[in-house]
Amino acid sequence: MQAPKRLRPASNTSGIFGITKQLCHVAGREAGPSIKEEVHRSVSNAENSASEVRDVIIVGSGPAGYTAAVYTARANLKPLLLAGSVTAGGELMNTTDVENYPGFPEGIMGPDLMENFEKQAVRFGTEIQFEDVTALGLDGDIKTVTIATGETFRARSIILSTGSAYRELGLANEKRLSGHGVSWCATCDGFFFKDQDIAVIGGGDSAMEEALFLTKFARSVTVVHRRDSLKASKIMGDRAQAHEKISFIWNTAVDDVLGDDKVTGLKLKNLLDGTESELAVTGVFVAIGNDPRTELVKDTLEMTAAGTIAVEGRSSRTSISGVFAAGDVVDPTYRQAITASGSGCVAALDVEHYLADLHA
Ligand code: NAP
Repeated sequence: MQAPKRLRPASNTSGIFGITKQLCHVAGREAGPSIKEEVHRSVSNAENSASEVRDVIIVGSGPAGYTAAVYTARANLKPLLLAGSVTAGGELMNTTDVENYPGFPEGIMGPDLMENFEKQAVRFGTEIQFEDVTALGLDGDIKTVTIATGETFRARSIILSTGSAYRELGLANEKRLSGHGVSWCATCDGFFFKDQDIAVIGGGDSAMEEALFLTKFARSVTVVHRRDSLKASKIMGDRAQAHEKISFIWNTAVDDVLGDDKVTGLKLKNLLDGTESELAVTGVFVAIGNDPRTELVKDTLEMTAAGTIAVEGRSSRTSISGVFAAGDVVDPTYRQAITASGSGCVAALDVEHYLADLHA
């Protein structure tokens, strides 16, 4: 449950595997009200006055944003959480069973987990609006946050928890078969490919990590990479290349994902001689990188070489005073729901200290 990022268009009603990166239609959720509808009811008092200067506004509603909301609400800072429209709830809204979030020994559906997060945040007084932020004014002591309706909110501090988006190959059938054999998360979905032949696309550390993890379940893992050498660190590359279940197809691009209602193979093209071939697989894990969602701030805040928002040490403090960042948008490495939650907590505590200093 990492994070998403990254919303996938297809639904997973076939139930062929659990956690997938796709748009919110998760089996078993269709009948009830959406998290969005429920929260709209529960925060009907969230009428915002543009002139009010809030203590904190949180942008983004994944585990980092909601954890920051719980903590800042319990600190009586009355946070406003701008949850986004389509992406509300973050990547976990795109998942089914979440089996590795501590505290749920039987596992929990991703949307249910997010609903719990949200209820906990609302219980302590968080205001939630399902709006997309279109602009941020981060200079000065009072920050501004403008949403798609044109309304602008003001706050002494901002927590950015906008997450990240898995990169896609950009193939029409990749989208269509998302949740039906195409996945972006081996930790989430690998279990559902027991004794099957699967492919991993990419040549970086993520691809090696996915391939190695998938060997626990798969009969075979074929890494398809567009170059003749890996981008991955040597240790990860060596480990993958030494594994008996993993083989490599080099200098090769994926031209198409094959299958009617579930994946049956890949159409490949050798980039050196142009020859085409097919690879029979029932699962495809796309691991070609991950882009933090920084569109709103990449020209304003200091960024890392990995494209994440730069923060000071283990804190959530960004290069602008009063602006804090948490979750996938600061994390190029771990990208788990639990690590995002932890960093949301850090951001909330940093905000508390920042505001206390302001008022001192
Ligand atoms: P990455 O390092 O950017 O590698 C992405 C890989 O996907 C590259 O090999 C790239 O090919 C390939 N690729 C990109 N776009 C593609 C496309 N459209 N079609 C086919 N292939 C494509 O991304 P990452 O592997 O997600 O790693 C991101 C960062 O996280 C890195 O700093 C990495 O070290 C770190 N990370 C660390 C660990 C770990 O240490 N355990 C695990 C995961 C990630 P080219 O080589 O041709 O560019």
